[in-house]
Amino acid sequence: MAHTSSSTPPPPQSSAVPPSHPFNTEQEDNTSPIERPSQTTLTSKVIPQRKPLLRLELRDLSSEGSRAFLRLIHASKALEQAVDTVLKNLYTGLNVSCIPPTRSVTLVLRDMDGVAYTTGRDIDDDHKEIHINTKYISHISESRQKEEIMGVLVHEMVHCWQHSGFGTAPVGLTEGVADWVRLKAGYAPPHWKRHADCDWDAGYERTGYFLEWLEKEHGEDIVRRINDGLRECKYDADTLWHACCGKSVKHLWGKYQKSLEKSE
Ligand SMILES: [Zn+2]
Repeated sequence: MAHTSSSTPPPPQSSAVPPSHPFNTEQEDNTSPIERPSQTTLTSKVIPQRKPLLRLELRDLSSEGSRAFLRLIHASKALEQAVDTVLKNLYTGLNVSCIPPTRSVTLVLRDMDGVAYTTGRDIDDDHKEIHINTKYISHISESRQKEEIMGVLVHEMVHCWQHSGFGTAPVGLTEGVADWVRLKAGYAPPHWKRHADCDWDAGYERTGYFLEWLEKEHGEDIVRRINDGLRECKYDADTLWHACCGKSVKHLWGKYQKSLEKSE
């Protein structure tokens, strides 16, 4: 869904990430494999059991948004790249059976309200549709258009592959995971900011930056563990957060709030 947000974030581009950080997946790397630092664990591709069918549907070729999309985006590469980014960030190091059996993703560009949303087909939830509003695309400033389209695509692609405790996880958590992957992919828009004047599950980048902080505090695979904890059971706050971090989410959020106060 739409990304509600505010001002200047530290750029989450992979180039800004310290070398010890393993989420450096989008970086252009011209060094030979031997010269590459060994800790870039997310460079290897995560392959799902079944390669998803990727499709594109343009409902109105004459719309400004469709024209901009076709001018700026290599659709087949962009969709593949979005799938790769999501699978790397959510499933590196996990068994392939942990990955949802998504069989197809159709990107639909059309005139509608809002920014974007993702849905499963009524008859078969393994077939996903990502709808992006062409009017929204046409209103983005030209200098940001390509990055923003990719950012929205990566966010929505997360919804095609993430677990949600059979739909019981707080929406703020699943939206936070989606924006966390967008952040890791280097597509955080310039207006994103760390906020803690809200609950931990306020969602989007507010929760996304909290998850980024949790990585530093509780290990680089923390979001993968949280996502996997939502695979086979319904969301239970106590069980999930204690299993992943050994503490309640309220306690963790309090620590995060304090860390932001200090850095102000
Ligand atoms: Zn979303």
